[in-house]
Amino acid sequence: MNLQKRRTGTRARTKRVPRKFQATKVTFDGREFDSKTELAYYLHLRLLPEVEQIELQPQFQILSPYEVECKRCRGNRQVLNRKTGNLNQCSLCKGKGKREKAGMTYTADFRVTYTDGYTEVIDVKGFSSSRDFPVRRRLFEKMTGMELIIVERKGKEWLRK
Ligand SMILES: [Zn+2]
Repeated sequence: MNLQKRRTGTRARTKRVPRKFQATKVTFDGREFDSKTELAYYLHLRLLPEVEQIELQPQFQILSPYEVECKRCRGNRQVLNRKTGNLNQCSLCKGKGKREKAGMTYTADFRVTYTDGYTEVIDVKGFSSSRDFPVRRRLFEKMTGMELIIVERKGKEWLRK
């Protein structure tokens, strides 16, 4: 069995989690998992005869990039220089009057396709989930129309929520 461990800390989803709560990343079969629990669930999935395909860490755009009116020039593209009395190009929006804001993505743990063609997106509950997970979950469900499956380990059993 090819099993390696290393400390996590680079992925955005674990950025704000204190070090003591960070899960240890695990590599198995050349694939990287966020935690031992995630790997254990992957191995569980692989044994299910109805599972046809397992995709790791599928990404979803849950909020599109958007534009807002520039707060410095209030959308006017220019600002008054009080010393000279001149109208100068707004430096914050570079004279566009609008500013572009980044969207938001959600990275789930697994996308599973079953032999009957049905697809599920699964998040394994663990210490690595970010504080804004409830918001990401709602946006994911609104954007995709799919109900996110939350899986939690209880003893040797896997609970689906
Ligand atoms: Zn501006």
